[in-house]
Formats: sequence, structure tokens, C-alpha cells
Amino acid sequence: MNMISSPEIIDEIFRYDVPLQRYTSFRTGGAAEIFVEPGNTSELKKVLQFCRDEQKKVFILGKGTNLLVNDSGVKGVVIHLGGVDFKEIEINGRHVLSGAGVGLAKLIRKSALSGLEGLEGLVGIPGTVGGAVMMNAGGKYGDISDTIDSLTTMTFDGKITKHSRDDVEFAYRGCNLSGQIVVNVEFTLKESKIEVVLEKMDEIYKEKKEKQPLSTFNAGSIFKNTQHFKAAELIERAGLKGQKVGGAVVSEKHANFIVNTGNATSADILELIKIIKETIKKKYNVSLEQEIQIW
Ligand SMILES: Cc1cc2nc3c(=O)[nH]c(=O)nc-3n(C[C@H](O)[C@H](O)[C@H](O)COP(=O)(O)OP(=O)(O)OC[C@H]3O[C@@H](n4cnc5c(N)ncnc54)[C@H](O)[C@@H]3O)c2cc1C
Repeated sequence: MNMISSPEIIDEIFRYDVPLQRYTSFRTGGAAEIFVEPGNTSELKKVLQFCRDEQKKVFILGKGTNLLVNDSGVKGVVIHLGGVDFKEIEINGRHVLSGAGVGLAKLIRKSALSGLEGLEGLVGIPGTVGGAVMMNAGGKYGDISDTIDSLTTMTFDGKITKHSRDDVEFAYRGCNLSGQIVVNVEFTLKESKIEVVLEKMDEIYKEKKEKQPLSTFNAGSIFKNTQHFKAAELIERAGLKGQKVGGAVVSEKHANFIVNTGNATSADILELIKIIKETIKKKYNVSLEQEIQIW
């Protein structure tokens, strides 16, 4: 069903009323009014032109691993950088150019197998390169911004800009690129030995697996740590591990993770988030801020 007039190329790649559950790691949420996977920047530009002409709201989707989509779905155009041009990796000496749609895991592994170190600290983070940049993903072994040299974005009005690392303000789980789409990222890494990098990756992954419920439906840490407290510690101290709403439960393994046990709705997860926030505020007078994005 296509009730919107759109240029031919756009018509071919538009899909309507697409369930977003399978595009998020929580496996919950409603449908996208329009879902599109542009193959390259020129198609992306046309999609954005269409959104402006039709006054459609734009949503950029990576792997949906830091995202909760409301059960009522998303009114507007969800753009998924799944096309081939956004999935390329080029390695030239110590310089790695990655499309924003590349899976972080693939980039880390390919760099390691090229004898390059610097990204291995991000192992186990399941997003795309674009999503990782927007969230400045990372942890105790460093953040993605540590190895970025430059990145290219497209604004919602189609303007392409290459930014050097120093032009972008990266913060704890965020950066100042909102309103822009990351299309590719350049990293400068260090030369190393393949076995050394692979070994580090194994160690970090093992550590992560021990502490986090990696093989469940979740979206990583729900809340940011505060300046003085770790969110997980506060939630655990408040006795909220195992707290349930419908099919959503606070993980027993890591208190800052909410797990969809199979039949959770996004409303269940939102209600659980509300309970956690209220409890922590009441018990410790601390206001937790969400790390996950909510559509
Ligand atoms: C098991 C598990 C473990 C995790 N561990 C960690 C961890 O250790 N550290 C950590 O930081 N995070 C962690 N996360 C959270 C998540 O993986 C990261 O935030 C990741 O970088 C999100 O990438 P994504 O592609 O899935 O982004 P999405 O969830 O799809 O999107 C996140 C945000 O980025 C925007 N976005 C996505 N792609 C682009 C783009 N190309 N251009 C512009 N905006 C874009 C979206 O609009 C949205 O606002 C974990 C998640 C899970 C499920």
C-alpha cells in the first residue's frame, strides 16, 4: 500500500508498516510507518528530500541495541543504513575507514586480523559503527571516540560534512551530532600482533559475559552512571534485582539491565524503568538518567 507520492527510486525502496521488533535487541515495540534502507548517500539524500517535502519525521536506526520503541510504533520514516555502501570497511596501513552501517563486532575483528589494536576494548558492544559514534559507546577499556580520526555526516537537509575528531564534542554516552546522520568514520589504530589483539579481545569478552546477560533480549545499560554512583550498584542496593513488570525483569546478573523474558511489551519495560527511577529517587535522592533512547 503506497498512498504517498514519491520519486520512483524512493518508491522502490520504501516499505510500509514494518514491525520494528526484529530490528531491536529488546524485541519489543510497534511498527514504522515507513521503513527504508538506502543503498548509498545519493539515495539517502533523496529519502531526506522526501521527508522534508512530506514533512515526515526522521528516525535513524542502527542495530537497535540501545533503543526502546513504543508499542504504538513510529510515525515517520525510519532510515536503516543497511545498504552496501554503508557496510564497507577499507583498511590502509593504520587507517581504517568504516561505513556507519557496519557492525562494530565485524570492524573490531577485521582490524584485529589486520594486526591493528585500539578497538578491542569495545568488544561485546553489539551496535553499528554509526550508533556507537552517536552514543560514544564504550566502557572501562575506553570509548569509541578515543580512536576516531574524522567522520562524515549528512544533515537532514542533505549536506555532507567531514568533521575532524576535534570538531566533535564527545561526552559520556553521547556527542553533539544530533540532527545529523553519521555515514562513515575514520579511525587511526596502532600496529600490533594479531595474536595479542585477539587474546585481549577474548579476555575482555569473557569478563563482559561474566557480568552481563549477553544472550538475552535487552538493550544494555538502561541508565547512565551518575558522577558519584554506578546505576547498577544503586539499583542492586535498593533490592530491585528480579523486580518484574509483565515479561520485563531487572536482570539478576546485572542490575542496570532489563531483560525481556520473551513476552514483554515496551509498556512493561517503561513501567519498570519508572519504578526503578522512583525507587532510587525516594531511597537515595538520586535522579537516574536514561542511557537508552526511546522512540
Ligand atoms: C548486551 C548489550 C551490551 C551493551 N554493552 C554496551 C557497552 O558496554 N557500552 C556501551 O556504550 N553500550 C553498550 N550497549 C548499548 C549499545 O550496544 C550501544 O549504545 C551501541 O553503540 C548502539 O548502536 P546501535 O547501532 O544499536 O544504535 P541504535 O540503538 O540503533 O541507535 C542508538 C541511537 O543512535 C542513533 N543512530 C544510530 N545510527 C546512527 C547513525 N548512523 N547516524 C546518526 N544516528 C544514529 C539512533 O537514532 C539512536 O538515537 C550494549 C547493548 C547490549 C544489548
